[in-house]
Amino acid sequence: MASEKDGLLGALGKGAAGAAGGALFLWFSGLLKPLWSWLHQTWLSLWTHLMAQSSWPNWLAYVISLAAALACLRWARRQWRSRKDSTWRFHQLSFLGVLWRWLPTSGLPSHVSGYCPACDTRLVYETLVPNFDHPRRIALHCETCSSVRLRMEGNLDYMNARVIREIDRLQRTGEWKQHVPD
Ligand SMILES: [Zn+2]
Repeated sequence: MASEKDGLLGALGKGAAGAAGGALFLWFSGLLKPLWSWLHQTWLSLWTHLMAQSSWPNWLAYVISLAAALACLRWARRQWRSRKDSTWRFHQLSFLGVLWRWLPTSGLPSHVSGYCPACDTRLVYETLVPNFDHPRRIALHCETCSSVRLRMEGNLDYMNARVIREIDRLQRTGEWKQHVPD
């Protein structure tokens, strides 16, 4: 008797659940139908727009395509050069009490420029008056701080080459990474 009752209740329960499920489904369909039709309409208009023939002159289409392609290439190159192990990121070095800068390159720079470590003014190169002990001597001085930042035996080419040799050493040993912010 009890099992019969349970069976009946169970059937009733299932029926109620089925009805509720059906109602829920109908409610959802009612809700989704406008959404679906909106999505469909939007897609149709977008597709019609994309497939429409443009009245632009060909030269304009070419110019715009070329500009877009160049922008993509530039972006890709920038990403490639800014990767962590790229020496393109290494274009500044503090050495011999001077801040040296050069144009970013994949290899060694052809020349470097010295900057004052205190005020960042570009330093002025001068040949010092020769004497017996120092027949060839140069200096880099800062006009803003009125101070000499570097004195060195040799000439401008020697100074340039010495800094580039240091850059070369840092690049070969991998120590350049210590001079680049992460
Ligand atoms: Zn200075």
